[in-house]
Amino acid sequence: MKKILVIGEIKDQELRNVSFEVITAARKAANGGEVVSVLLGNECEEMAGQLFDHGADRVVIVDHPDLNRYTTDAYKQALLQVIEKEEPNGIMMGHTSIGKDLAPRVATKLDSGLISDVIAIEEEDEELVYTTPIYSGKAFEKRTFEDDFIFITIRPNNFELPEVDNSRSGEVIKYDAEIKDIRTIIKNVAKKASEGVDLSEAKVVVAGGRGLKDADGFNSLYELADLLGAAVGASRGACDADFCDYSLQIGQTGKVVTPDLYIAVGISGAIQHLAGMSNSKVIIAINKDPEADIFGVADYGIVGDLFEIIPILIEELKEL
Ligand code: FAD
Repeated sequence: MKKILVIGEIKDQELRNVSFEVITAARKAANGGEVVSVLLGNECEEMAGQLFDHGADRVVIVDHPDLNRYTTDAYKQALLQVIEKEEPNGIMMGHTSIGKDLAPRVATKLDSGLISDVIAIEEEDEELVYTTPIYSGKAFEKRTFEDDFIFITIRPNNFELPEVDNSRSGEVIKYDAEIKDIRTIIKNVAKKASEGVDLSEAKVVVAGGRGLKDADGFNSLYELADLLGAAVGASRGACDADFCDYSLQIGQTGKVVTPDLYIAVGISGAIQHLAGMSNSKVIIAINKDPEADIFGVADYGIVGDLFEIIPILIEELKEL
């Protein structure tokens, strides 16, 4: 039986889904032990209830003005102090931009191993085995820890959300943390006017490539995405050509997404793009070139001119 600390991730004063998915992952590893959600933030106590609803056994909170927004120094110090007090057998967090930054630094301080970007946890020969994609998702590697302490980051959207039970509750423990010598001060966060659905957590993604010709062509994707409740993504080709912002880029050097449905529009399917989306559950590709590589990973393919197909899709969806 293990005690696993799982990190709740807060964005715009709301818990991100990965905060709950990590509870599912921890249940698999805890072997009937305790799953403790950790909230590092400012005025975040009221979020504890949601963590209990999603299966946390206990919630630990460090509430501090310096934790209002993520900075490496403040979060690392706060988490290390929680770890010292809780003495867990394992730590899990999302493989998000925060997790990718925080986990290796904390693992180094603890002198522990770290397995990043885990997409599955299974028991084999009475040992927990962690699966991670390698070679840009072309192959999968199964790894284990040499000692008993586990430290992993999980890929968002890969583990099921736990079943919600609003009748659950539990103990909330508040720890003080001494936070000092922060080298980064966030003075302002500039946001785009409309952010829409969060790309890395979206269940449906409509992604556009250079085939959309220009920024105007790219805009037609937003209408389609609105009708589907989807997030809009892009290939690097589309970002490089200035059709859209780089924050939409999916792939090896962009975001990794694993939605239930991925619609690739005018994207050729370069290996670097596939690295960011080939684990999507269902992939639909729209491309005028029947030889395009994207059809190699697609479950459904539409060969044709996207400028004819997208308006038809939009009209049909409006009818529903
Ligand atoms: P193209 O390859 O130009 O494909 C456009 C597609 O649109 C074609 O298949 C064409 O048939 C189709 N098309 C054109 N007109 C129409 C039409 N009217 N109707 C239907 N289809 C049409 N790329 C990424 O996406 N993400 C990454 O993270 C990434 N990282 C990289 C890292 C490195 C180190 C390198 C070297 C490259 C990286 N790339 C990445 C770039 C990648 O190699 C490709 O260049 C890029 O993905 C191509 O974008 P695209 O598919 O939009 O454009």
